[in-house]
Amino acid sequence: MSKENFYDLGDYDAIQRHIKIEREKARKLRKSSWWEAHIQKGLCYFCQQLVGADNLTMDHLVPLARGGKSTKGNIVPACQACNKKKQLETPVETLLDQIKIQSDQ
Ligand SMILES: [Zn+2]
Repeated sequence: MSKENFYDLGDYDAIQRHIKIEREKARKLRKSSWWEAHIQKGLCYFCQQLVGADNLTMDHLVPLARGGKSTKGNIVPACQACNKKKQLETPVETLLDQIKIQSDQ
């Protein structure tokens, strides 16, 4: 994933606005009973390991910075190892947004 690809998506400000809106939706979803039920099993979507609900984080299959949305179909539980691995392949801008989301809790 190069920086060029990131900016090819279009207007940077539009992306930032999109991320802000979807991040707010994700925050609400995280408090929903849907998410509670989702992480209850403690299963990581990516590695299929049982890590326990406390060790799962909310992850977007299509990153917000790439036009992904905070919909139930695009949100999956990920263990910290998988989340970290995914973040290494993520543009810095997305990474910073995800850190903000996590510190908002
Ligand atoms: Zn995992």
